[in-house]
Amino acid sequence: MRGICKLCGIDRELRNSHAIPDSIFNVIFKENSGKAILLTVDGRKIDYTSDSLDTKQLCDICEKKLNHSYEKYSINLLRNSYRNVSKESEGINFSEVDVEKFMKFILAIYWRAAVSEHESYRGAVMHEELLYKNGAEKLRLCLLENSKIPASLFSVKIRRLRDLSGSFSLQTLKNLIVTPFHRPYGKDEKVSVNFVIEGFYISVIMPALSDKERRKDMVLYAKGNQFTAGYVDALSIPELKETIRVMGLKIRMGHSNVGS
Ligand SMILES: [Zn+2]
Repeated sequence: MRGICKLCGIDRELRNSHAIPDSIFNVIFKENSGKAILLTVDGRKIDYTSDSLDTKQLCDICEKKLNHSYEKYSINLLRNSYRNVSKESEGINFSEVDVEKFMKFILAIYWRAAVSEHESYRGAVMHEELLYKNGAEKLRLCLLENSKIPASLFSVKIRRLRDLSGSFSLQTLKNLIVTPFHRPYGKDEKVSVNFVIEGFYISVIMPALSDKERRKDMVLYAKGNQFTAGYVDALSIPELKETIRVMGLKIRMGHSNVGS
C-alpha cells in the first residue's frame, strides 16, 4: 500500500509498522507458542494475542532508521546484553549508557502509538499544552533527524516491575505487554502515558518536569550516561492492579501456554 509516511512525510510504499517493536512481541511469541499476554487498560481488555498491533504507518527507510538509530541498542540494553548493568537495593542501575538514544527509543514508541490508528493505542494521548505547542511535530522532527529532544515537553521515567505478593515471577511480568494508558501526573495537571515492555514500567510525562521535580523523581537525563530503574510493585499501580489479578486467573487457567 502506498501512502504518506508519517515520519518523513513522503509518498512511498508503506510497511507494517509497530509502535511497540515487533522484536519485543516476537520473543514472547516464540516462548509462548505464538501468544503474548496483552493488556489494554482503557478498554479493560486482557488477552492472549498473536496480533503485534501493526498498521501501515511508515516507509521502509524510516522503519529501518528507527530500528538502527534507537531500537536495537535500547532493546539490548533492556535485555541485559551489556555488562554495565548492576542490581542495587533500590533498582537496576545502567551505567555508561547512551541515555539520549534510549530516551529516543521510548519517545519513538510513544510517538508512533500517538499517531497510530490501531485501537490498542488509543491511550497514547498528547497533553493539551503540547498540542498547542506543536509537540507532535517537534517530536517527529527529533526522531527523523536524530536531533535534540524537546526537553521542555517530555520527561521519561523507567521502573522495574516486580510483584511483592509473589504471585508472578519476573518472567511472567516480562511476558506481559501493557499498551499505553494515561493518567494525571503530579499536582499541576501534567499527564503521563505509561506502558509495560520487557518487565519495565515506562512513563512519558508531559510537559517535562521542572528541575526541582526531577531531583525528587528518578527521570532520565538525556545528557547523562547512567540511570536507575527503581523497583515498583506492579500491584501498587491502580490501573494494573485489577487487570493483573484477572490476568493471574487466566495464567493459572492456561499456564501451559505462558511462562510462569
Ligand atoms: Zn518515511
